[in-house]
Amino acid sequence: MAEEKRAVTMDKLVNLCKARGIIFPGSEIYGGMGNTWDYGPIGVEIKNNIKRAWWKRFVQESDNSYGIDAAILMNSRVWEASGHTTSFSDPKMDCKECKSRHRADNLIEAHSKGKVNPDVMTNEEMEAYIREHRVCCPICGKFNWTNIRTFNLMFETSRGVTDESQNKIYLRPETAQGEFVNFMNVQRTTRAKVPFGIAQIGKAFRNEITPGNFIFRTIEFEQMEHQWFCKEGTDVQYYGEFKQKAWKFLTDLNFSEEHLRFKDHDKLAHYAKCACDIQYLFPMGWSELNGIHNRTDYDLSRHQEFSGKTMQYIDPVTNEKYIPYVVEYSIGADRLMLAVLTEAYDEETLSDGETRVVLHLHPALAAYKAAVLPLQKNLSEKAEEIFKELRKHFPVTYDAAGSIGKRYRRQDEIGTPYCITIDFDTLNDGTVTVRDRDTMEQVRIHSDELAAYISQKIIF
Ligand code: ATP
Repeated sequence: MAEEKRAVTMDKLVNLCKARGIIFPGSEIYGGMGNTWDYGPIGVEIKNNIKRAWWKRFVQESDNSYGIDAAILMNSRVWEASGHTTSFSDPKMDCKECKSRHRADNLIEAHSKGKVNPDVMTNEEMEAYIREHRVCCPICGKFNWTNIRTFNLMFETSRGVTDESQNKIYLRPETAQGEFVNFMNVQRTTRAKVPFGIAQIGKAFRNEITPGNFIFRTIEFEQMEHQWFCKEGTDVQYYGEFKQKAWKFLTDLNFSEEHLRFKDHDKLAHYAKCACDIQYLFPMGWSELNGIHNRTDYDLSRHQEFSGKTMQYIDPVTNEKYIPYVVEYSIGADRLMLAVLTEAYDEETLSDGETRVVLHLHPALAAYKAAVLPLQKNLSEKAEEIFKELRKHFPVTYDAAGSIGKRYRRQDEIGTPYCITIDFDTLNDGTVTVRDRDTMEQVRIHSDELAAYISQKIIF
């Protein structure tokens, strides 16, 4: 599957992102801070558009779904109830020679080239595999490991102004719990009937043992999560529906089906009845893009138990009382951003033999929907007038510097779908040339029609 040669590599993406203001290394002037990244002027627009597209699909256009924005810092009891304080951990091994830190499951996966599945192994079995196969440290090549230690991935901090009142709290490692603890609030205030959904987009933090691969795995990231509360017995059907919905969201964003696949989880989390990922063919290979989990009534039951507050829904018709099941769909905004950039990146040889780098972004995701380019300096007054009118409708950029070819290349590299050139005919008859990023074909239309012409092409 997907054997075609793709132009994209991680290095090319990282370089393009830095050069074009998409993503910069975090705290760069201080030598950086490992695996943190800052979104630049173009990147923040693309990421916001990704979040908007997701919200539109999973809240605005979804029946009976409601958004929230819960606090990052939550009562520590939340994480006891959810099971994170005891079981949100990875199997960590340290190399005693070079002091590098690794995940035992990753070492086994890499050594066996994906043929052995560490997800179904206990820590003892993983240690035995690593010993028997003499899996060496990928950094220094030596074989001198510590035993596996489980490492909790939650970032701890403390609140309170004096030592006495210090109280351990956590930066949330997932947004889902904010949706669960607000289940009753949302149900009561919206009068929603089960089945209904609660969605949110927000930051999550994980002290990952092996962050890396650009923005694929970071210690601070954004999640977009949708929890669907339904009656036991309907959960299997909804689980299937969310798999399809998650897949369609990606193909509607112009992802090729060749680069996507479902992968069922072999080892289920403590709360899950069934779970799968959609994997994407990233530059470093197939990896998880998003997850779909049937979480049963685990979360709400645990919150009922730990908080002492009821989580029971009362069916208004039958008066039946029950704790709903939850089908969760969860995707990282940054990980989706990496997939979007990977999928969009291309290098094309033009008829004059030159190569262009182009991001074939879905127009709804592009930072700017159009660029206004006056052919010559003395056309700037008219060009600025058009630019100022268009930016009332959607984000537009203006570029008067350099040859028109160079200006097209700059816009292609950030994925601007339309370039509007202003020439002397514009002064006479009000028409402009609109160049399509993907086909490079040009049409001539009246500047009064521009807003409507472009608006109908950028809808998601
Ligand atoms: P992985 O197996 O890659 O560690 P996970 O199964 O722990 O991911 P979930 O807890 O299901 O991931 O989180 C849901 C989604 O959040 C993931 O599918 C991914 O898109 C995103 N995500 C999780 N961890 C990170 C991270 N460290 N950096 C960026 N995105 C992340």
